Amino acid sequence: MTGFDFDACVVGAGAVGLACGRALARRGQSVVVLEKESAIGQGVSSRNSEVIHAGLYYATGSLKARLCVTGRRALYAYLDAHKVDYRKCGKLVVATDESQIARLEAIRIQARENDVEDITALTGAEAMALEPGLKAVAALASPQSGVFDSHGYMLSLRGEIEDAGGAVVERSPFERAAPLAGGGFRIAVGGDSATTIAARHLVTAPGLSAQTVAAAIEGFPIATIPALHYGKGVYFRLSGRAPFDRLIYPPPIHGALGTHYRKDLGGQAVFGPDLAFVKTEDYSVDPARAAAFYDYVRRFWPDLPEGALQPDYAGLRPKIHGPDEPQPDFRIDGPADHGLDGLVALFGIESPGLTSSLAIGEEVATRLGLAPSP
Ligand SMILES: Cc1cc2nc3c(=O)[nH]c(=O)nc-3n(C[C@H](O)[C@H](O)[C@H](O)COP(=O)(O)OP(=O)(O)OC[C@H]3O[C@@H](n4cnc5c(N)ncnc54)[C@H](O)[C@@H]3O)c2cc1C
Repeated sequence: MTGFDFDACVVGAGAVGLACGRALARRGQSVVVLEKESAIGQGVSSRNSEVIHAGLYYATGSLKARLCVTGRRALYAYLDAHKVDYRKCGKLVVATDESQIARLEAIRIQARENDVEDITALTGAEAMALEPGLKAVAALASPQSGVFDSHGYMLSLRGEIEDAGGAVVERSPFERAAPLAGGGFRIAVGGDSATTIAARHLVTAPGLSAQTVAAAIEGFPIATIPALHYGKGVYFRLSGRAPFDRLIYPPPIHGALGTHYRKDLGGQAVFGPDLAFVKTEDYSVDPARAAAFYDYVRRFWPDLPEGALQPDYAGLRPKIHGPDEPQPDFRIDGPADHGLDGLVALFGIESPGLTSSLAIGEEVATRLGLAPSP
């Protein structure tokens, strides 16, 4: 390393930024991860379902399909190796009326094409025998799906970066960057100890700020920056005993996997997230949405007691499509896309971003031309 403070600077200490930092550190790069907040993992990575997705739904050949399946396999191995809590509880995708059976079959075929292991078609009776209390006319069983401690995972990634000599620095917002004449970037960092650093590689993984950060990189072609849409999802928590062990998912809705059931690692039942396109970064949960949740959940759990749902939390998906547009793939833009050597910019890292994070880190390193770690 000559003339650079760091080999690589990553913007954003969410699950994806930390996984990128880890992938680069494993390739012998000196890494700094900049985080604007006072703690890591306070963005999209702290307001989601913490589900490890098997990779059933995504179009074959897409980044989402490939990185979800490889990321999921890598994630289970990582959680084992680093003793981070998870439960491979499996999932049932349920049809609650005959009209949904064809969709289940389409998902089963898609899952097979995506190389997802162990998917089996069940009759309604078989599904209901597995989960008494469930109502289903047919189902798909996905034993590779699970739930995990996403915060423990992020702490572990941070530890790996630091063990390799890297740094994860809070209260250090990326402000702007400019390419250096001989390669690399000069990066202005704000916060209490504002400074300027030089790094050979720059990776932007700032979640909901992806567009703002890309626009603050001198020479970044503004026309290639996708529009940002907030896809809000709210959750309701069940007061009372969790009715099922497995994740229960009706077929996806347009733009999201839709409201589902999960038993979290603490044993509590949670339903959500729905999807509403909103204009502001607002995490309130309107109790009036409960009515739609009762309706929806009773299609697969008719015994849901009146008054049992309590407003819980909300998350915002960093979407790059509007309500009437098709849902696009992840964007992992490298030099071939934006023309800036040494830069990878991420956009639209919504679900299954958490599951895919380790694989996204590997993909980013590859796009920077760094050889795979042994
Ligand atoms: C409701 C909901 C449910 C979901 N459920 C699942 C699920 O079950 N399974 C799954 O796999 N995925 C799920 N996802 C998707 C997953 O949560 C995201 O893909 C993932 O968390 C994105 O991580 P990230 O690191 O890209 O973003 P973030 O976690 O938002 O991290 C970005 C970080 O960058 C920081 N930052 C922003 N601007 C700057 C700046 N200028 N300088 C420095 N730092 C900056 C932010 O503070 C933040 O910490 C869900 C998402 C939502 C919204």
